[in-house]
Amino acid sequence: VLHYQPQHDLQTQAVTGREALIRWERGGKNMLRPGDFIGVAEETRLILPIGEWAIEEACRQGAAWHSEGTEIRIAVNVSARQFQQPNVVSMIRDAVEHSGFDPHFLEIEITESTAMIDPDLTAEILLDLKNLGMSIAIDDFGVGHSSLSYLKRFPIDTLKIDQSFVQDITRGGSDGAIVSAVIAMGKALNIRVIAEGVETPEQLRFLKEHGCHEYQGYLFSRPMAASALSEMIHTASPGAFTHRYARTIQSGLPAIEHCARAATQCDATHFATWQCATSAHFISIPVCLRRLSTPDAPRAEPHTPP
Ligand code: C2E
Ligand code: CA
Ligand code: CA
Repeated sequence: VLHYQPQHDLQTQAVTGREALIRWERGGKNMLRPGDFIGVAEETRLILPIGEWAIEEACRQGAAWHSEGTEIRIAVNVSARQFQQPNVVSMIRDAVEHSGFDPHFLEIEITESTAMIDPDLTAEILLDLKNLGMSIAIDDFGVGHSSLSYLKRFPIDTLKIDQSFVQDITRGGSDGAIVSAVIAMGKALNIRVIAEGVETPEQLRFLKEHGCHEYQGYLFSRPMAASALSEMIHTASPGAFTHRYARTIQSGLPAIEHCARAATQCDATHFATWQCATSAHFISIPVCLRRLSTPDAPRAEPHTPP
């Protein structure tokens, strides 16, 4: 199955896109994450049918969301082996055409290292995809061995700063400097910069102060099933959904209480989504955040929009 993780505008918190991330459901057993099977799938070439399915499914879901009125960008990951296939462009084009998804809303993510395997070929493929209307993101930016000159040669729309840099940005080391340099470079080159793996309000604040365009991370939401997302809010407008969920929180389920406590540690935002593990499943709870005066007695207050 595909799960989707929202991507947000850093200034407005509005959801700008959703990244499709594959999971392997094994009837009754726990779900496998890509780290458990993508490597083997690459080696055995099974990544080709799996990856093709993922693109088709993401386009189908994207088209479904669009027809529900949610005009949102969908990002899909294309692996190194997939990207090296002679038919990669036609495979992606066919998936888009079959689904009826508007290619202008499809973003193709390849990692920096995939892009650098054969830079000439990469430039050609990316240009073909651009001409079909899609946008291009360079994933895990900063960890591959690449030369900055390719930023000029490849038609790139988005740079995704690898989460290893984001993790320590507020610790005062070199990661903060690297991230702010990438943001500045993105601005100068007119490339959108997305920070990945944002988990804390401090990281969010740093990125905001440095003018990063977008972010994704557990701070707002884990990847989740399409159905769960459909139910969730599309643009994080303060106050929406709050009453319903505030009631749930006050009803005192232990897992949700824990969740509310976690949410209250977040001081600046007025709205966030938290996903909590209960014994059986995940629940996403958009919680209205008000700084609580008594941290020992967490209580979510309904937010009254100004
Ligand atoms: P990626 O494209 O770099 O995806 C980001 C990963 O970071 C995802 O892991 C996501 O769940 C995780 N993540 C998001 N926010 C946070 C956060 O705040 N903290 C932390 N610690 N992690 C966060 P996931 O879903 O396990 O995917 C791992 C990798 O598998 C992806 O890395 C991508 O390279 C690959 N992958 C996922 N889906 C597909 C697919 O459909 N096709 C292909 N070819 N590769 C895929
Ligand atoms: Ca990705
Ligand atoms: Ca990444």
